[in-house]
Amino acid sequence: MEKFYLTTPIYYVNAQPHIGTAYTTIAADALARFYRLAGTQTFFLTGTDEHGSKIEQAAAAAGKTPEEFTDEMAAKFSLTWDMLDIAPDDFIRTTEDRHKKAVVLFLELLKKSGKIYEDEYEGLYCVGHEAFLNKSDLDENGLCPDHKKAPEKLKEKNWFFKLSDYGEILKQRILSNEFVVAPESRRNEILAFIDQGLEDVAISRPNVKWGIKIPWDEGQTVYVWVDALFNYISATDFPKGEKYKQFWPADLHIVGKDITRFHCIIWPALLEAAKIPWPKKVYAHGFFTINGQKISKTLGNVIDPVELAQKYGPDTVRYFLLREIPFGQDGDFSIEKLEARYQGDLANGLGNLFSRVTTLIATKLDGVVPEIVPTPRELKDTALMMAEMRFHEALARIWEEISWANRYIDETKLWEQAEKNPKLFGEVICSLVALLGEIAEKLAPIMPETTEKIRKALAADSIAKAEPLFPRQK
Ligand SMILES: [Zn+2]
Repeated sequence: MEKFYLTTPIYYVNAQPHIGTAYTTIAADALARFYRLAGTQTFFLTGTDEHGSKIEQAAAAAGKTPEEFTDEMAAKFSLTWDMLDIAPDDFIRTTEDRHKKAVVLFLELLKKSGKIYEDEYEGLYCVGHEAFLNKSDLDENGLCPDHKKAPEKLKEKNWFFKLSDYGEILKQRILSNEFVVAPESRRNEILAFIDQGLEDVAISRPNVKWGIKIPWDEGQTVYVWVDALFNYISATDFPKGEKYKQFWPADLHIVGKDITRFHCIIWPALLEAAKIPWPKKVYAHGFFTINGQKISKTLGNVIDPVELAQKYGPDTVRYFLLREIPFGQDGDFSIEKLEARYQGDLANGLGNLFSRVTTLIATKLDGVVPEIVPTPRELKDTALMMAEMRFHEALARIWEEISWANRYIDETKLWEQAEKNPKLFGEVICSLVALLGEIAEKLAPIMPETTEKIRKALAADSIAKAEPLFPRQK
């Protein structure tokens, strides 16, 4: 592949980064690193979604201006990604000028398409959602089930987009895989939704201050989700920048399954109207619960990924999330499970192998690996699994090798062979060093820090007994 452009959703800054947003962003980072290492021109974008009345309210509640509030929150996201060794090529904020200018251009293209019209809308508006709800969305008390508040009856003028015109083309391109929606379960869901018939959608609201104005109607502000979706293009210096020419259309949007409809229906339809090519693929991953319960502020089970990274190291968090839950499916997070994998897979598995090999070289061979061409061990290829985001499978394969090597050392009592059979000992050590090197290369997209430590230790002129890769937890 010549180029690979992948994105995460941009995160709404009314909430702190949590383990769920970290999960999406770690997966994207692992994939981006995989493509970069394969020599593909890679562009990995993440960022923050910063407009809307909800942000205005959150800022007011914190005693800050929206500008101060969003600056702080965006910095927090950026710092969190740093702490997790996530290295995006760009970080876009929807309050940046480059984004606002591009959105205005986009709106003008939409207007020109003739698919935008003005209409009056009456409905039940939930401030928490920043959206109108259907009667069927409300609970038995007539409240928004998420915000536990009665929606306001609101009649207002909006600009609408003729989404109803796009059912056929959407269906055709999804069925032909010209536009790929994955995994299969999400694809079926989207196709079923299209089959019900698409309704036009409002793309603007009156009286929202903190947002981007509709260029031909200053009294209206574009809906925050339309504004947000365009980040994928505004970050490429649309419409004339080199990056736009090189990287658009995006090869992959990674999203959570809650926003698939926006990305698989509204987004391509808007692009079609504006005569902009569609992204090639949308992949929706699952969600996880914490100890079997939904993540929520009220339950107090929100896990701070920064704390996890500080305690266990970024590679442990990255490894655990991508190993524990098959990407695309739902899963469960618990500290017990993380600690079990830390102790089992990392400390006793990879950490032990690394420590045994370096110790044997340091103590039995004076730190020098003999110059013997190692017998290559047939390693199963994990590249396809990585490219298909089957991270858990790739890791399982790599760990089969680690277990095999540890078992081999035990069964042959390798530490006794240095004296008994020095020739064999030298050969085996050479093979183990080669194997560790290969493991480190394969792990590089997921565990960059660990890879670096292994590489450095093995490249030393005199190999020393290494510090533990995964020290015992206090
Ligand atoms: Zn609500």
